[in-house]
Amino acid sequence: MPTHDTLLLAFGGNALIRKGQAGTIDEQLENLTLPMRQVARLAREYRLIITHGNGPQVGDLLNRQECCPGAAPLPLEILVAQTQGQIGYMIESTLDTELMALDASPQKSLVSLISYAVVDKNDPAFLTPTKPIGPILTENQAMSAPYPVKKTAKGMRRVVASPTPLTIVEKREIKKLIEQDFIVICCGGGGIPVVREGRKFCGVDAVIDKDLASACLAHEVGVDVFAIVTDVAGAYLNYGTPDQELLTHISVTEAENYLSTGAFPDGSMGPKIQACINFIKDGGKRAVICPMDEIETAVKGRAGTVIVP
Ligand code: ADP
Ligand code: MG
Repeated sequence: MPTHDTLLLAFGGNALIRKGQAGTIDEQLENLTLPMRQVARLAREYRLIITHGNGPQVGDLLNRQECCPGAAPLPLEILVAQTQGQIGYMIESTLDTELMALDASPQKSLVSLISYAVVDKNDPAFLTPTKPIGPILTENQAMSAPYPVKKTAKGMRRVVASPTPLTIVEKREIKKLIEQDFIVICCGGGGIPVVREGRKFCGVDAVIDKDLASACLAHEVGVDVFAIVTDVAGAYLNYGTPDQELLTHISVTEAENYLSTGAFPDGSMGPKIQACINFIKDGGKRAVICPMDEIETAVKGRAGTVIVP
């Protein structure tokens, strides 16, 4: 039975490219089949918003850029916009196929929306770019790069700022579309980062965490259930050690305590837990972090790490 509750599903980059894959378009479309089959079934019960990461896809565009010195380099905001179009198309086409296979009647309509996320130009994150993006650079490329670079475990990489998203510019349009029963794909890659300059928005060289942007949007449009879909069973304590323990149900207070003791690293599980905390504190009913093959059960609160008030 339709609940008319709104569900926001935030997909990690691994929904499209699994660890160890080359990341061809055929692989990406094939990888989307399993999650989108579940999303199609959930569309019978919930109003749906889908957000997604874009790390590997932006990395691929940057790689092409590094390989082609003759072409004028495109700024990051343009690359984020390009990936919103590309990934929106791939999600739309696979989800549409799964909806038709279910013979959903009346047929649901899908729309992918180019979305901006506003950040503060004085956000301290701009002073210390931390987020590695793009390909591993050669020593020469790193030395002559017109942007900050940092040594990472994999080698020298470009780093960019990751400021906090304050608001999603298209929130009213997204709300109207879900009220009219559209499935909305938006906030790809956390949204195109912009700062407000008087009456206009200007793109900035930054990347926004897609989980924090999704929580921001969820609050602004009044989402009921928030699911972050990734490549692990949920949030673990002592992750990667013989004592690792999957958290199944935790309260916001427990989540805050674990986060403050450093149980979850920045840049991966940390922002997911923070996004769930923000969502519940803003009035959401249930947040869950779950793997690709358990989306339906996790949305009901029976798999993954469920965070409740
Ligand atoms: P996504 O693309 O879905 O955003 P991320 O790589 O950002 O994925 O975050 C998921 C990753 O977080 C997992 O693959 C896992 O390796 C890592 N991780 C780090 N700490 C933890 C933890 N405490 N519990 C679970 N996963 C963790
Ligand atoms: Mg991530």
